Amino acid sequence: MSFTAPKGTYDILPPESSAFLAVRDALSRPAALAGYEYIETPIFEDTALFARGVGESTDVVSKEMYTFQDKGGRSLTLRPEGTAGVIRAVIEHKLYAGQLPVKLWYAGPNFRYERPQAGRYRHFTQVGAEAVGVDDPMLDAEIIALAWEGYRALGLGGFRLLLTSLGDDTCRPAYRALLQAFLRDLDIDDDTRRRADINPLRVLDDKRPAVLAQLDGAPLMVEHLCGPCAVHYDDVRARLADIGVQWEEAPRLVRGLDYYMRTTFEFVHSGLGAQSAIGGGGRYDGLSAAIGGPALTGIGWALGVDRTLLAMRAEGVGLPTAARVQVYGVPLGAAAAERLFGLTAGLRAAGVSADMAYGARGLKGAMKAADRSGAAYAIVLGDRDIRAGTAQLKDLRSGDQLALPLDSLVATILEKLT
Ligand code: AMP
Repeated sequence: MSFTAPKGTYDILPPESSAFLAVRDALSRPAALAGYEYIETPIFEDTALFARGVGESTDVVSKEMYTFQDKGGRSLTLRPEGTAGVIRAVIEHKLYAGQLPVKLWYAGPNFRYERPQAGRYRHFTQVGAEAVGVDDPMLDAEIIALAWEGYRALGLGGFRLLLTSLGDDTCRPAYRALLQAFLRDLDIDDDTRRRADINPLRVLDDKRPAVLAQLDGAPLMVEHLCGPCAVHYDDVRARLADIGVQWEEAPRLVRGLDYYMRTTFEFVHSGLGAQSAIGGGGRYDGLSAAIGGPALTGIGWALGVDRTLLAMRAEGVGLPTAARVQVYGVPLGAAAAERLFGLTAGLRAAGVSADMAYGARGLKGAMKAADRSGAAYAIVLGDRDIRAGTAQLKDLRSGDQLALPLDSLVATILEKLT
């Protein structure tokens, strides 16, 4: 019997895996530069945390969670998203009692039982950032700009920022009733009617032509914001404009998680087909209280690493592919191998990446491995060299070869590489 990766998952293999790491790092770097600190929370949490935090009526909670009972009878769930766990940690460890805002970033896998397709997986990786405890529209603009910079740093150009405000507890209930009244008069199926009862905003996101055609003239949240929400949204947009971040008004943008309010946004990429969102987020001022914490405001995003990589591929932006190592040892015989083992360790101790041919591969096989490693130099060592106290240093680009004293080889290579 042989095994394959479970449905909806995939292996990230070299050499693409280095691009994966590079994307993960590039997306988190702007947050780190803005003083966001790293947090790591468990990959599973109490099931109730997501039910209350993300929302029972969402697809994520009602259909897509990997929920299981552990041997102690606890109901646990593999995290479908990062924010609920991070805010749980902020509350549990009273991080809000220190300096505000609490600024955190994280990266890791998430799990959703979705129908797999290109760009949609059951195991996927996000980089996330959250700013908690200060309600300042400038923070909304900061967090959006950090995602924008992350994509830009990767060389992406074909992405757009969709932006809207979802109002708050003051203006949303009245708007919700207005929208429900509008939806009640439409010719829609029972399922959609039920959705209109539970979460009418979600109906605005319906992509089916028959529904879409009837949504012209639907009331929009941005047209019914209360005074403070309108001012907040204006401020966010003014600050974004100040720093040159461009957005598109997306009054029908809804997101799959219930906790969003006020500023809400999504980054979409034109090269990805149906799964076009490469990242998204928003303000979630009610989340902390919903999961038993103090009334804390918060704003954050999660950026999809898998889809960002797909977007880069679609655009044809390459990542600089780093050589696997800088120096590669080619031993001719057992004594030479032992000598090279020490030499490569010495090179690594000096900060030079180095590998060697293991397993008596012979000159031809070892030289092929040296070429494949991408190394700039090969150290070719035989018994005669050892007796003479030298090694052959071969420049793998030019093909030039030079006999150099073994004793000072590490220092000589260091000099050549800098
Ligand atoms: P969300 O947590 O749903 O707001 O998603 C944030 C980002 O994570 C999305 O914009 C996608 O880039 C990525 N993402 C969400 N779900 C998946 C999935 N099933 N497969 C791959 N990427 C995903």
